[in-house]
Amino acid sequence: MKNIVVGLDVGGTSIKAGLFEGNRLVLREKRATPKQQGAQGVLDHLTQTVWRLLEKAGAQREDLRGVGLGVPGPVRGGVCLRAVNLGWENLPVAKLLQEGMDCPVLIANDANLAALGEASAMERAPKNMVLVTLGTGIGAGLLQNGRILEGRHGLAGELGHMIMVPHGRRCTCGRSGCLEMYSSGRGLAQNYSELKGEPMEVKDLMGPTNPLRQKALDKGARMLAQALANVANVVDPEVFVLGGGVMEGFPELLFMVRTHYERFALLKAKEIPVIRAQLGNEAGLYGALELVLKNTPGPQRFPGRPPIKRSRHKAGAAKRRSREPSSPPRPTD
Ligand SMILES: [Zn+2]
Repeated sequence: MKNIVVGLDVGGTSIKAGLFEGNRLVLREKRATPKQQGAQGVLDHLTQTVWRLLEKAGAQREDLRGVGLGVPGPVRGGVCLRAVNLGWENLPVAKLLQEGMDCPVLIANDANLAALGEASAMERAPKNMVLVTLGTGIGAGLLQNGRILEGRHGLAGELGHMIMVPHGRRCTCGRSGCLEMYSSGRGLAQNYSELKGEPMEVKDLMGPTNPLRQKALDKGARMLAQALANVANVVDPEVFVLGGGVMEGFPELLFMVRTHYERFALLKAKEIPVIRAQLGNEAGLYGALELVLKNTPGPQRFPGRPPIKRSRHKAGAAKRRSREPSSPPRPTD
């Protein structure tokens, strides 16, 4: 058995792991992140996870082609520059893990890795793509020429901290008016709180439609659409992909974002499709597979029917409109 790849997606609360044979995800597991054991404790846990999955799959250590790893913070050249949730700073993760595993270890920011995974799930993998993940906060991954764009300081793709409102809401980054404060789960709840005049949470936005709830969602959608239109002017991607818990919780957001986006986008950028992510919380694992396949000797693709749901990202704007409800949301300027 050769061409075994293990993907690891390290978060502040849990670590997701998956073992691939070729391009098939055959084993998965999710365990709590042992943060209290410090950086070395987490790294040891990751190594143990890899050995455990190999054993479960009945594979040998020499069958391991590589390990791909996603971390919740900026990455540059195999070094995790900062991961607040894990208490890591300038940690040479790839090098440290590689010493114990004797196989290539490749790391990337988790949102970038998810972008790589989502791209690989499409019928024609886009070379230039932007993935935006809407959860409690906002993450984004940028692919340029099929590769992750890290940037000089590992900050490429920090869409959540684009300033959308001068002197706006105070952000966790210490500045004000960032996109995350309006369009993330927390941001949508704040939109609703301001409209209702009392503190609201994301879960209060669920349930039966009412005009204020729609207005709160629409504000978040409009801000995100503005941000995407601005990003289109900088990187002009083939496709925007939206994922994360907020997109799953509020499916109507996609149509709202598209409607606003077509209004804000410049010239031909209006035709850039805005689509829903396909892989859910396994995108990072598939991204880890891609990262290893693209950067280690051996086949980059495997024959046979891909195991993951595919989407068409080339659908034109007119075609997309025809599949959507006919009445667009009223903008709330
Ligand atoms: Zn910010």
